[in-house]
This record gives sequence, structure tokens and C-alpha cells, in this order.
Amino acid sequence: MSAATATILRNLNLDPAAIYIGNARRAGRGEELVARSPIDGSTTATFNQATASDVAEAAVEATKAFRQWRIVPAPKRGEFVRLIGNALREKKKDLAALVTLEAGKITAEAEGEVQEMIDVCDFAVGLSRQLYGKSIVSERPNHRMMEQWHPLGPVGVISAFNFPVAVWAWNAMLAFVCGDPVVWKPSEKTPLTGLACQQIVQDVIKTLDWVPPAISSVIVGGRDVGEALAANPAFPLISATGSTRMGKQVAQVVAGRLGRSLLELGGNNAMIVTPTADLELCVRAITFAAFGTAGQRCTTLRRLIVHESMKQPILDRLGPIMQSIKIGDPRTSGVLMGPLIDKDAADAMDTALATAKEQGGTITGGGRAKGFTNGVYVNPAIVVIDAGAPITRHETFAPILYVMTYENLDEAVAMHNDVPQGLSSAIFTGDMREAEGFLSPAGSDCGIANVNIGTSGAEIGGAFGGEKETGGGRESGSDSWQTYMRRTTNTINYGHDLPLAQGINFDV
Ligand code: NAD
Repeated sequence: MSAATATILRNLNLDPAAIYIGNARRAGRGEELVARSPIDGSTTATFNQATASDVAEAAVEATKAFRQWRIVPAPKRGEFVRLIGNALREKKKDLAALVTLEAGKITAEAEGEVQEMIDVCDFAVGLSRQLYGKSIVSERPNHRMMEQWHPLGPVGVISAFNFPVAVWAWNAMLAFVCGDPVVWKPSEKTPLTGLACQQIVQDVIKTLDWVPPAISSVIVGGRDVGEALAANPAFPLISATGSTRMGKQVAQVVAGRLGRSLLELGGNNAMIVTPTADLELCVRAITFAAFGTAGQRCTTLRRLIVHESMKQPILDRLGPIMQSIKIGDPRTSGVLMGPLIDKDAADAMDTALATAKEQGGTITGGGRAKGFTNGVYVNPAIVVIDAGAPITRHETFAPILYVMTYENLDEAVAMHNDVPQGLSSAIFTGDMREAEGFLSPAGSDCGIANVNIGTSGAEIGGAFGGEKETGGGRESGSDSWQTYMRRTTNTINYGHDLPLAQGINFDV
């Protein structure tokens, strides 16, 4: 482990061990996990990972904690989350440094990710006083109906490598104020960030005698641990973020026991550029959305659907921009694209580009960036291709932008929606009718639809998620909290008679 890594771990009070249930930390009995930084391939930690059997113990502890936590008044639960937000403010730089180290994000984006955690804490604190139910008029005299929202139970969270801390915070902060404990299986590619978050939460819990430590647990392991979490009936809700392949497996397992799943899966996000678009604005948006985070965001722009008349002006601008994007160590000032997570990711990019070429695509860029002996650094690629090319229907988690053209907007919207995924979308236009049409029921079929902004970089206040093979889940803002609670409908009779609904007479 390098001295820099050791400093980050020390600042985060972190002593890595795979199983961290409540405030008890121990080694796993599974195979050795060598955690590596994608920046240079260096080892950041080595420890034995958890096995599926460890999930059962975490489930028992979370269930016990639930009995205590569910009766703590929601605003008081919010106070706990407020303190987590404060701790994150204090640890922002160190946690972001660890995100950079493990996920390879540039510092500005890693700090943005931690800021997102802080923002969602603030949101959840407000929410803790707003878990509103409805009051409903009754058809029966002297009766009243109402809805209440109660805590649901332990929530199992499975997360992906590319947002190693924010996705947990979106889930956990809402779950905590809703009265639910969380057992988290972070990606095996980013284990330390998961353990660091758990340490921060446990350090807060240590100062409070009314929070059961087992409302938060982290278990580091591979797919088998995720499968065990999904299969365990102690978790009424499984929130899983990752590939569509993983989501389809988790969905079946959870449905098999009639549990609830919240799925945040792959995207294949597109932007339509119409003739009235502000070209400079649109090119800036494309640059961040397509190449930011080295193309490793679920909301990364993957398909650019441009009006015939806009194709050349956009390509003329994007060409030099691609040349000038600085690729390298994400900790270095001025670098905009860090490494891909691993060699498999770069191989997948190579394969996708080769396939695109076979399917008629014209490629600019791509290939390994020069000058790096360790870490996997790639050049971004632009592929001008026909919209019907099958490769454009797949999400390749790398900086590849497919560019296709259209003649009329209906055709563009049809091209836009003609993929299996439905996460994020955007239109760049100066025409109000085009913008509103894109947002209308006949427009984008995605969970996120934007006008004159790119597909990535969502704010926490909105519900985040997508349709079709993206899984249908919604996290973070708006009314996403309802997924973490159970609704009860209550009918109260304050009269002296017992009238039945629908006028049924059952007098003996
Ligand atoms: P992945 O599917 O390989 O792994 C995600 C997590 O699922 C990991 O923790 C992994 O161990 C676990 N897992 C894998 N198979 C499992 C199974 N059968 N049962 C239970 N758990 C299992 O994804 P990744 O490579 O880490 O992340 C990239 C993918 O995640 C992309 O497709 C991206 O679009 C998607 N993603 C989606 C969102 C969203 O909000 N929609 C956010 C981030 C990432």
C-alpha cells in the first residue's frame, strides 16, 4: 500500500475488514480480495471477503435493530441523518480522495459525488418531517379513512463500482429516516469506499445512545453475497444498482419470494439536436455527458441523434475537443478523463468499436492512450453510424459516442426510443414545440428527459431512475421515499352503527 493510500485510510479511521455488522468488524471466510486502484493498478488493500453465510448474520442483527428503530420518531431519525451529513462535510476531501483512488474519477467529480451524499442527507432530514399520508373521505356515515406510512424493514442494497458512495447514500439516508436498517453490499471493485462510509456512520452512532448500531452494516463480497442478500426474506426491499444482466437475476430471485425490488440498471442515453439548437451550449453538454467519468456513468451520453444540417458543425467542433481532453492520473489538475475501471472494460470498448466498424461505422479516436504503463487509459471515440446498427442498442460502459442523423423530428424520437433501455434523454432545441413534444407522452420514453442540458449530472431533488431494461426503480428525491415504507389504509368508525361498504346488508 502506498503512503498516500495509507494516509487516506488513516484520515478515514479505516482498518479494512470484509464484514462490518453494526459496530462489529471481522474478517471474511471467503477468498482473498485484492483491492486495486485503477489509477496505476497498485494494491490498496488485501483481505478475505465475506461469503453468502455472512448475510444471514447481518440480516438477524438488522431485524433486531429494526424493532428498535421503527419506533423512534421520524424527526429524531432525521436528526441522526443530519449528524451523518455533518460528518460527511468534515470527511468530504478524504472520502472523495478514496473515491478517486478506487473508482478512478477525477477529483472534481469525486468531490461532487460526496457533495451529492451531503445533499441527500439534507433532503432526508427535511423528509423526516414530511412522511405524509392522505386523509380520505368515507362513503359511510361517522367514518373516516386515512393512510399512514410505516417503516418497511431491513433494506438490502447492492451497488455498482461507478458511484461507489452516492448510490448507497441515496438509499441509506432515505431508509434511515423511513425507519429501516440497511445492509449494503458494495461493488467488489470498490470495497474501501463502502467500508469508509460504514465507519463514518458508526462513528456518529458511537456518540448517540438511541441509535442501534446494526441499522447500518456493510458486507464486502462478490456476486454470491449479492445473491444471498436478494434471496433472504428478512429484506422486504432489495435495491440493486448495476448492469441489466445483474438486475434481471436479482428481480427474479426477489420476485420468487414476493419481495420488493428497486432496480437501477443500465442506460443507453441519447440526445436529439435539432436545427434551432444553440450549438456552443450543445457541444459543451455533449463533451461532459459523453466523456466525463470516462464514459462510466449510467447516464453517460451514448447516442447523439442530430439533424442532417447539424451533423458537420457538431463533428467539426467535437474533433478538436476530443484531441484536447486531457487523459491521465485523475488526481492531477487539468485532467478530465481518468482510467477505465479495469482491463475488461477496455477490452469491451475495443470489441464494441470493432463491431461498430463491421456494422458500417466510421470511427474517430479509441484505442489505448499513450504513455501509461499501469492503469487502463483509453482515448474517447466517436462513431458515425446508421441508427439501425445493432451495436447502438447495447450499453458499452466506456467513452464511445455513436452519432446518427435524422430528417424529421418524429423519426428522431422513434430512433431515440428504439432501444431496450430507458434511463436518461435530452433534446437541444430553441423551438418550444419541439421541446414540449419531446417531454410529452409521445416523446422520450425515459425516466429522465431534459431540455438544453445533457443526459448526466442529475440533482438529488428529483426521482432518479429509468424504464424498460433500466429497471423501473426510482431513488433519491420526489416521492421515492414511499418505496422504503409500507402503506396502511385505516378506517375509523366513530358512530354507534356498523354500516357496511357498498351498502351491503348482512343483518341476521
Ligand atoms: P455489475 O452488474 O457488474 O455489478 C453491480 C453489483 O451487482 C456488484 O456489487 C456485483 O457484485 C453485484 N452482482 C452481480 N451479479 C449479481 C447477482 N447475480 N446477484 C446479486 N448481485 C450481483 O455492474 P458494474 O459493472 O459494477 O456497474 C456498471 C453498470 O451499472 C452499468 O450497466 C451501469 O449503467 C449500471 N449503473 C446503473 C445506475 C442507475 O442508477 N441506473 C447507476 C450506476 C450504475
